[in-house]
Amino acid sequence: LAGEDGSTRPTIFAEMSALAAATGAANLGQGFPDEDGPEWIREAAVDALRSGENQYPPRRGSAALRAAIAGHQLRNYGISLDPETEVLVTVGATEALTAALLALAGPGDEVVTLEPFYDSHAAAIAMAGATHVTVPLVPADGGFALDRAALDAAVGPATRLILVNTPHNPTGAVLARDELASIAAAAARADAIVVTDEVYEHLTFDGAEHVPFATLPGMRDRTITISSSGKTFSLTGWKIGWASGPAHLIEAITAIKQFLTYSGGAPFQSAIARALTEGDDDIVALKNTLNRRRELLLDSLTRVGFRTVRPQGTYFVCADATPFLTAGVPDGAAFARWLPGEIGVACVPLAAFCREGSESAGRLRNWVRFTFVKDDATLATAIERLAALR
Ligand code: PMP
Ligand code: GLN
Repeated sequence: LAGEDGSTRPTIFAEMSALAAATGAANLGQGFPDEDGPEWIREAAVDALRSGENQYPPRRGSAALRAAIAGHQLRNYGISLDPETEVLVTVGATEALTAALLALAGPGDEVVTLEPFYDSHAAAIAMAGATHVTVPLVPADGGFALDRAALDAAVGPATRLILVNTPHNPTGAVLARDELASIAAAAARADAIVVTDEVYEHLTFDGAEHVPFATLPGMRDRTITISSSGKTFSLTGWKIGWASGPAHLIEAITAIKQFLTYSGGAPFQSAIARALTEGDDDIVALKNTLNRRRELLLDSLTRVGFRTVRPQGTYFVCADATPFLTAGVPDGAAFARWLPGEIGVACVPLAAFCREGSESAGRLRNWVRFTFVKDDATLATAIERLAALR
């Protein structure tokens, strides 16, 4: 069975959201906004439904959305793409990731990711039958940092693909240009393809700059960039994502994608085409709101006694729960399962983003992740309840 390593068991997000619902806890576990994205974008989907955009879109995605994605990459990053051959619309970033892994890696290939890693990355590697090799991101005072010696040890002749994620879930790290340059050098040395998950590309703080991997010297021709409208426009249930990169790689991914879903979300594709073209102000507004909520949550966690790492991006804060552990609640996984019933707040353990028994799993054993992408009332409730830990 695929995922005998446990990578395809029910996700921690579903488990923790169910526990939050059962206990009435403020859900700072699963990362989804509880405020829907801009009304004008939702109205654009209604218009598309009413005007008859209800049949299969083309398997590569609607021409309007592919053009909008190419326009977005050019305007924001100077990456020029041919929307006909270098852009693929997918059912969320999740499908793009899985199709990319199935298309580009297989048995005998090694796929390198950072660790901790987003759970679908490990599952997609398992589905492809490839071998998962990891490089730790290590908590430091200034944030989580790439272990470069481990990177050099991990990437070698068997490396088919390096899966990057920046801004990074769960750590909130925005990989610095020099860290990405180390990954680029390793990819070039091993002649590996790079798949980069940039779904949080617009959610950065403290002036941190998101550097798209494809903009690094020499990398465009070996990089598949994946993103999604879910995080950028707070419309995670629409599942409109995309992949872009060199035509021959996009063609290979399209060949798989057509038999996963063929296509999806016709009216939402139209609405996101407009959002990507006309929605820059909404992105800035979201980022400002999130920045304020990040400060509130960080301040509350720190005051209560957690050691936190200040995230430069995403909508997550990681916290070391060691001061609250006891014989009965011995680690972060136990803490995350105990907290909702005890004080009414849900989070997720970082162990869920690590391979069992790995060095990172040991180092982050007592850590948990809280999300701040919640409305002010939910966040205020959570903060009030967290104070009970003091
Ligand atoms: N990658 C990362 C790092 C994520 O955090 C998420 C979702 N939270 C996804 C991919 C999945 O994106 P989508 O919902 O568009 O499938
Ligand atoms: N990406 C979201 C998170 O990290 C969860 C998405 C999901 O539940 N599949 O919390």
